[in-house]
Amino acid sequence: MYAPRAILVDIGETLFKEQPMDWRAAAEALAARFHALLPGARDLEAAQEDRPDTWTVLAWLETMLPAPLAAEAEILVWEAGVRMEPMPGALEALAAFRAAGIPVGAVSNTRFSGRAYMEVLPRRGLAVDFVVSSADVRARKPDPAIFRAALDRLGLPAKDVWFVGDSYEKDVLGAAAAGLFPVRFGGPRLARPGPGEGGSPLPSCAEAADWAAVLALWKGAAAPGVS
Ligand SMILES: [Mg+2]
Repeated sequence: MYAPRAILVDIGETLFKEQPMDWRAAAEALAARFHALLPGARDLEAAQEDRPDTWTVLAWLETMLPAPLAAEAEILVWEAGVRMEPMPGALEALAAFRAAGIPVGAVSNTRFSGRAYMEVLPRRGLAVDFVVSSADVRARKPDPAIFRAALDRLGLPAKDVWFVGDSYEKDVLGAAAAGLFPVRFGGPRLARPGPGEGGSPLPSCAEAADWAAVLALWKGAAAPGVS
């Protein structure tokens, strides 16, 4: 296991513990703030139901509001509707990577833009260097395109980058297919799926039950004499 020159992380159930989005609260906040400009604000809850993965909050808002106001409204929707708290140890881990000069980017399948995340994450103490959102790149994990978008932001080859995420299919298999080193996050361990049809081999990955374990892996890999 090589020491990483950068670390990419999933958001939901990796950086944050999350509960289902409260679309009704978000719609009410929108209606309260933009009632005259956004007559369809209360339709938010219905607008997102049964929508394809490509539906995004910002695109929906931009059909009704000028771009600067739509961006402001997207933040409002996030603040009113998203119910997340940092996973135990996540803040400390990000601080340790930052102190060591290791860039950290978040990569998420989400209905919110990366710009919105960059505004709201620091308010919760989680400062990352960038966020690559499926809403922006129009590709969702495990599609290699979203991992490549993150590597482009880093300017690093995939082999020098770890990807930490809780989903075996989206994070581990996706990152491995894009050439990154996957760290499967969280516990308890789920049974790994068998090799894919056609006998494709399972990727090598590390497993870390929590952020303290991720830090331990990283310190082990970065120790002198380890390659
Ligand atoms: Mg996740």
